[in-house]
Amino acid sequence: MKKELIFLGPPACGKGTQTNKLAEYFGFPHIDTGSLLRAEIAADTENGRIAKKFIDKGQLVPVKLVGDIIKNRLKQDDCKDGFILDGFPRSMEQALMLEDIRKEIDKDNEVDFRATYFDIEMEKLISRIINRRSCSKCGAIYNLKTKAPKVEGKCDVCGVDLVQRKDDNEEVARARFDTYLKETAPLVDYYKNKNELSTIDAEGTIDEVWERLLKVVE
Ligand code: AMP
Repeated sequence: MKKELIFLGPPACGKGTQTNKLAEYFGFPHIDTGSLLRAEIAADTENGRIAKKFIDKGQLVPVKLVGDIIKNRLKQDDCKDGFILDGFPRSMEQALMLEDIRKEIDKDNEVDFRATYFDIEMEKLISRIINRRSCSKCGAIYNLKTKAPKVEGKCDVCGVDLVQRKDDNEEVARARFDTYLKETAPLVDYYKNKNELSTIDAEGTIDEVWERLLKVVE
């Protein structure tokens, strides 16, 4: 059965690390709207230029722009057995949009659809954001305090430079938390009421959270 997994949780709750691992585990594509938008910015496309204005302020990028990117991506052949969607939907409007996209792409499929909510205390997360670095090549995520690279400033896997996201500073992070509470947090109840939600305790080590995640998505 085709598996379609989406994830909810505040910025820096650990979703990126875990869903990357999960995509590898199932052999499904990891589709992460934040990374797709950053790639548009790096390529200096029209969409990238629009997205940058919102990302720099910690606000959601217009729904039409993100929706079109996701729709095109989910139609691709590598999504036919399943996908891991990280960072979409992020508002009620996007959740309804995803339902429309799924109706279109899943006409002939039986689908196991599940939303997983990463439950974590938000106060701790600002420090995670400020200390977060990622590999400019493979996207591996590090933390200067809790998961430092073996060689300072270099990725353990590919050896290239680690970078800090421009929106990973305290001011923009606070705006991203406000956006999350206002736009995204209501989706937890939305999927709970549809009986499509699993909640995991996202406190603890990467391995501890991974064990909990596997129990709800396998
Ligand atoms: P992330 O990498 O998931 O933390 O996302 C970084 C930024 O990209 C967010 O603060 C938003 O500005 C933008 N973004 C990512 N996903 C979406 C989405 N589904 N809808 C609108 N904006 C998004």
